[in-house]
Amino acid sequence: MTALVDRYGRVHRDLRISLTDRCSLRCTYCMPAEGVPWLKGPTLLSTEELVRLARVAVGLGVREVRLTGGEPLLRPDVVDVVRALAAIETPDGPLDLSLTTNALRLPALAAPLRDAGLDRVNISIDTLRRARFIDLTRRDRLADTLAGIEAARVVGFSPIKLNALIMRGVNDDEVADLVSFAVERGLEMRFIEHMPLDGGHTWRREEMVTAEEILAAITSRFSLEPLGHDGSAPAEKFRIAGTDATVGVIASVTRKFCDRCDRVRLTADGQFRNCLFSHEESDLRTLLRDGADDDRLAEAMIACVARKLPGHGIDDPSFVQPSRPMSAIGG
Ligand code: SAM
Ligand code: SF4
Repeated sequence: MTALVDRYGRVHRDLRISLTDRCSLRCTYCMPAEGVPWLKGPTLLSTEELVRLARVAVGLGVREVRLTGGEPLLRPDVVDVVRALAAIETPDGPLDLSLTTNALRLPALAAPLRDAGLDRVNISIDTLRRARFIDLTRRDRLADTLAGIEAARVVGFSPIKLNALIMRGVNDDEVADLVSFAVERGLEMRFIEHMPLDGGHTWRREEMVTAEEILAAITSRFSLEPLGHDGSAPAEKFRIAGTDATVGVIASVTRKFCDRCDRVRLTADGQFRNCLFSHEESDLRTLLRDGADDDRLAEAMIACVARKLPGHGIDDPSFVQPSRPMSAIGG
């Protein structure tokens, strides 16, 4: 079978689809407060178009789809998108379908999403303190995020992973509190190293809180047993000694996992990307709208993956941040 294999032998099975670049928050590390250059409406893929591209990718070996954004739950037809994707059969059974969200709309949408066939959710929460949440996201919505987490639990998503991005002098004193919060609720806490992808270009290597520092903060309260990585998953996992609870650290910068990467991305405006950090995209939207058949779309995906670089090069002095911010690529 033709598959999405690159020059380094990496097989790509995980497709991240961004449903929109819009968001209900303005996290400082992700988006500027004002003046975001939004994608234009007519450039956005329709549900039919994005489901067709997902089917083509499944034909090339993709087995897992994660919906993201921007805030994916702002897409008005997100439940229809989930239903259509959940109906795609792969030779290995149904697609593994998950979603990354800030949870603000989960109180209303958790049940319909679960009924439509969503398997799992990852929820981003960087702080448990209201004033800090307002500083970090520029919106007073902590209560909604907490209600969203509760709604996800009530409808029975499992596992539920919580993601926090830790920044020096901002929330680095909350690492152990976030772990306690997750463990008490039977959720998996994961910490993400800050990457140079923000719209405001504020990232500084020397200011980044490293995985090592995060682990030191966790072990100030908990004792950890290393579990390693699950296959190609980016998180390095640990069990909290004496419990079933696990925590993860996604050390994209200091312990990079590019050599195991199996991810490709589709932006809300139909651009196929072989890496978060790549400077080139394959314009599947234009191909699609010009009448390309599935074989031609598959060829374009294969060619894009073939051009994938061995790693992101953040530590290389010549590193240049991609022009598209995280919110328009899909995290
Ligand atoms: N709005 C949704 C949310 O926040 O979960 C989905 C999109 S958001 C871009 C996905 C993830 O990317 C979030 O967990 C967020 O913390 C993370 N993220 C955003 N900017 C980042 C950056 N510069 N470095 C590392 N992670 C980042
Ligand atoms: Fe929105 Fe998610 Fe970016 Fe925060 S991290 S601004 S919630 S897209």
